[in-house]
Amino acid sequence: MKIAVSACLLGHNVKYSGGNNRNEELIDLLKDHEVVFLCPETAGGLGVPRDASERQADRVVSCTGKDVTAEYNRGTELCMQEIIAEDVQLVILKARSPACGKGRIYDGTFSHTLIERDGTLAEAVRAAGLPFFSEEEIADIKAYLCHTV
Ligand code: SF4
Repeated sequence: MKIAVSACLLGHNVKYSGGNNRNEELIDLLKDHEVVFLCPETAGGLGVPRDASERQADRVVSCTGKDVTAEYNRGTELCMQEIIAEDVQLVILKARSPACGKGRIYDGTFSHTLIERDGTLAEAVRAAGLPFFSEEEIADIKAYLCHTV
């Protein structure tokens, strides 16, 4: 199966802080599959390291007040183009990120408050009707792979 995965989960140093969110259990689960790595924030032109950002209504804003909506939109569009061009069948995205977060992200006040909302890429993946999980849904990923491979 071809699976698109947030690059930071695979160990790529693309996090805003300069590090990664390498997840050994997920990487082990993916070893028999074809993996496409994605990072909408860097794809949209944001550097590493960069200021943390959060979604605020229809914008994405950094903790220093910079509007980075255009970069998030561009990165999301480029990642969706790659998902479609590569005929990806499953997407696994980093939880709580303003781009990759599935279902729960920070509320835009930089106060560590979570709300029910997708990140920009998660929202586009959901709208496209593709199956997707966060890395925190590892049991669901295992079940999905077990039933569809
Ligand atoms: Fe990871 Fe997604 Fe953030 Fe890139 S945009 S660092 S892949 S969570």
